Amino acid sequence: MLFANIDILDENLDYQKSQYVGVEGGSITYIGSEEPADAAKYGERYDGRGKLLMSAFYNTHAHTPMTLLRGYAENQPLQQWLNETVWPFEGKMVAEKKHHYWGCMLSQAEMLRYGIVSYTDMYFATVDRCEATLEAGMKANHTDGGTMCFVETDYDTLPVAAVNKQLFEEYHNAGDGRVKIDMCVHGEYTTPQGMIERCVAEAKAHNSGLHIHMSETKAEHEECKGRHDGMTPAAWFNSLGAFDVPVNAAHCVWVEPSDIELMVSKGVNVSLNPASNMKLASGFAPVQAMIDAGVNCSLGTDGMASNNTHNILQSAYLLACSQKGNALDPAIITPKQVLQMLTINGARAQGRSDCGALACGKRADLIVMDVDTPWMCPVYDMATNIIYSANGADVVLTMCDGKVLYENGEYKTIDIEKTKFEVVRCVNEVLDALE
Ligand SMILES: [Zn+2]
Repeated sequence: MLFANIDILDENLDYQKSQYVGVEGGSITYIGSEEPADAAKYGERYDGRGKLLMSAFYNTHAHTPMTLLRGYAENQPLQQWLNETVWPFEGKMVAEKKHHYWGCMLSQAEMLRYGIVSYTDMYFATVDRCEATLEAGMKANHTDGGTMCFVETDYDTLPVAAVNKQLFEEYHNAGDGRVKIDMCVHGEYTTPQGMIERCVAEAKAHNSGLHIHMSETKAEHEECKGRHDGMTPAAWFNSLGAFDVPVNAAHCVWVEPSDIELMVSKGVNVSLNPASNMKLASGFAPVQAMIDAGVNCSLGTDGMASNNTHNILQSAYLLACSQKGNALDPAIITPKQVLQMLTINGARAQGRSDCGALACGKRADLIVMDVDTPWMCPVYDMATNIIYSANGADVVLTMCDGKVLYENGEYKTIDIEKTKFEVVRCVNEVLDALE
């Protein structure tokens, strides 16, 4: 495809007017202000007038099947929300009835609509989710939550051992590297020491990483210190060798200055989830301190029981505004820093070094936004407009590895009417089982 006469955010996220961008074989091979002489070789020509082309978005924390719970668990304190509403519902979800598969598929459709091509996911029925990812043509780092065992248990006696064996054999780097498998350490309070150490060993053995929840709530953070001689979750994980493999740590709301130093020295990636953290009243992460220290920060939408949208531009807006408001400082967190979180930093957290930037040689993970709207005029700084004025639904085209997966209301790989129908069927089956 050749994008013609289109404004872009280049690899430095700087605004360039009226450019030509050529995509061949899944990669970006031409960027310039002149039409390439051999334009025909790029195939379809896309008229870019009134549009903006930029890197697609990378969502670094999700629980995709939880779209079944969107709007189900509201206005409850965290422990009641979890114990009385979310976990009982999840306990009735049945993989054989494709509950997880259809919940994942609906999440994927929503993500594509909002410009996300790749997501980092933690849940159950992981083979079904990998299949859904491959069918949709998206990218995902999947982990199976079966290691969440609360009390010390031999890994090899749990179903997750066989599941992970199959996942690593059949799905790790499947779809030309689009699907990756990582190990799940749900959290310090749900995963005992021996299980964490085994997860690290499995990650090392398969050249993969860990996806963890870390210091999400004050109670979790403080109770960890009470259990482990004053060690924070970050210090505890590090003492078990967890930071010796690539780590994607979700939330990090209550991390301390010593944790931030540790995360920088170990290269721990942080996934910020501002919508979830505000909705569940978990708090505000020390984002500027992490950025200043050099932590790779990206953005996640979390599960749909705690957000309730995959509109990641909304999360970006919330992150910027809430950080300024909480710090009483309007000068912190620039729009460009938030755009980096949405794109290159997210790709880096997923181990996708060839993704996340509009640059020659990078994978063609791209979105087109309609910028010919009242709310995007005038343009003093396009990055500012995207973070503070644009809507996620301004995305009109989402491309992953050079393939258009969504364009102008049309899904190329997902039967959206069937997906919505099946999700309602799955929800009704779970509610019937709960009665
Ligand atoms: Zn989560």
